[in-house]
Amino acid sequence: MSVLVLFVVQATVHAQKLAPLPMNNKEWSEPAEPFRIAGNLYYVGTYDLGCYLIATPKGHILINTGLAESVPMIKKNIEQLGFKFSDIKILLTTQAHFDHVAGMAEIKKLTGAKMMVDAKDAKVLADGGNSDYYMGGKGPLYVPVKADKLLLDQDSISLGGTKLVMLHHPGHTQGSCSYLVTVKDEKRSYRVLIANMPTILSDTKMTGMPGYPDISKDFAYTLDTMKKLQFDLWVASHASQFKMHEKRKDGAAYNPEAFADRALYDKTLEERTADYKKYPTAP
Ligand SMILES: [Zn+2]
Repeated sequence: MSVLVLFVVQATVHAQKLAPLPMNNKEWSEPAEPFRIAGNLYYVGTYDLGCYLIATPKGHILINTGLAESVPMIKKNIEQLGFKFSDIKILLTTQAHFDHVAGMAEIKKLTGAKMMVDAKDAKVLADGGNSDYYMGGKGPLYVPVKADKLLLDQDSISLGGTKLVMLHHPGHTQGSCSYLVTVKDEKRSYRVLIANMPTILSDTKMTGMPGYPDISKDFAYTLDTMKKLQFDLWVASHASQFKMHEKRKDGAAYNPEAFADRALYDKTLEERTADYKKYPTAP
């Protein structure tokens, strides 16, 4: 393909109307009070879409952006906590579904931050979700983003004295991932897991989806590996997954321990495993 043709194709993608979203949820678009989870880790998402800010003296890391319409909400939340939106230097995500990355292109443009993604989700992110094995095929669902860096399992991301480790947890999307980060407050340090729980979407074919032949193997790997993780606190891609609104009410004082709850984490993985076992897998 010539450079000119490539350019025209690119321009068309951007000018193109986005495909209608395959699902929505009122709680995705409602606001939430931003707060300090532990150390320099903050919740800046919407009522249900988990977006996390790691604030450092050298700038900030933002994990997940919610929907396109979530961007002003996230910006307001970051500013309400006393940080500058323009200080975001690194953008990450837990999965390339529209409810976690649809605001990515705009935030990248507004901040100039570098986007890093699990290598297996890079293609989906770059075509606005159109090549996603489950939700794709009807054109881009969100403005495409070309990642600046691809991440592999156990890769670390460092900024201003904070180091995150990316954990490849495929299945929900081919490049779903979680992050482990150690944060410190005045009293102690906490190992925090920002988890992408391996939710199986209805009508998934574990014998292999067109576009994702290894889906069964990936879910088995992720369920097994997540059960073995050690951490002090955990949060997730959706607030509902770790019962955030039960654990913390608006205006509550700083209380990292509210997010320990290993029992809920284990129970959720047991439920996902039981769900997985209901599906016939490839021979
Ligand atoms: Zn998803």
